[in-house]
Amino acid sequence: MDVFTKNKHRIVVLVFLIGLGLLYYFNGAIIYWIIWALCFLITEFCGAYFIQLNFHLQATNKLNTAKPSIMLSFDDGPHAKNTPLVLDVLETHQVKAVFFLIGKNIQEQEEIVKQIVAKGHLIGNHSFSHHHLIDTWSSKKVLNDLTQCQQLIHQYQAQSLLFRPPFGVTNPRISKVVKQLQLHTIGWNIRSYDTSTQNISKIKQRILNKLRPNSIILLHDRLDIMPELLNELIPEIKKRGFEFSIELPKSTND
Ligand SMILES: [Zn+2]
Repeated sequence: MDVFTKNKHRIVVLVFLIGLGLLYYFNGAIIYWIIWALCFLITEFCGAYFIQLNFHLQATNKLNTAKPSIMLSFDDGPHAKNTPLVLDVLETHQVKAVFFLIGKNIQEQEEIVKQIVAKGHLIGNHSFSHHHLIDTWSSKKVLNDLTQCQQLIHQYQAQSLLFRPPFGVTNPRISKVVKQLQLHTIGWNIRSYDTSTQNISKIKQRILNKLRPNSIILLHDRLDIMPELLNELIPEIKKRGFEFSIELPKSTND
């Protein structure tokens, strides 16, 4: 992997600082300082919130299989009522998926985690707390949180190193911890926006419109609509000639 791809954030910071130096040297007007600062802030914001940009860390955002495949990924479980229903639908259609679990939910729903693993699905770390301010935490606090979840995950799937950042947000501290724990970050390239509407046909159509070979779809198994959505979506995806796969490329972290 080339130096630019691996160090996007560092390069942006360096270019920003060089720009500040030039503005100072040439006595730049205040408006140029403001424009330059805004450009930097917008780049930083996009880098943190769009995991596909691989700005702070290298994430796997699509599959790399020979056959045109699709991966279903579920965040925020296990959920007492809806995760077992999702598992039933997946079994009916013989589809394997990846579940990114929240540590505190694992502690409450141990039996469901056992079921997920027993049915041949993969599980991954989605943090212990899923705290909405995790992106403001120190690396030490992030390390404690992700380690706590990782220890729980390992009780059920000892080899799992899969990680999906809560809210898909990344920053230098999260990146540091991911490297420390040697986790393999999994992003997505189809966001279903299943949490922002209850309209099943709208979500289904949005996903089908974006469907490409080797897509990774982001879904949430905690939602009441999920079993019905999957029952409609999976046959449509199969009809378009895709298989379902959980065969992930090797970590791009190194
Ligand atoms: Zn989440």
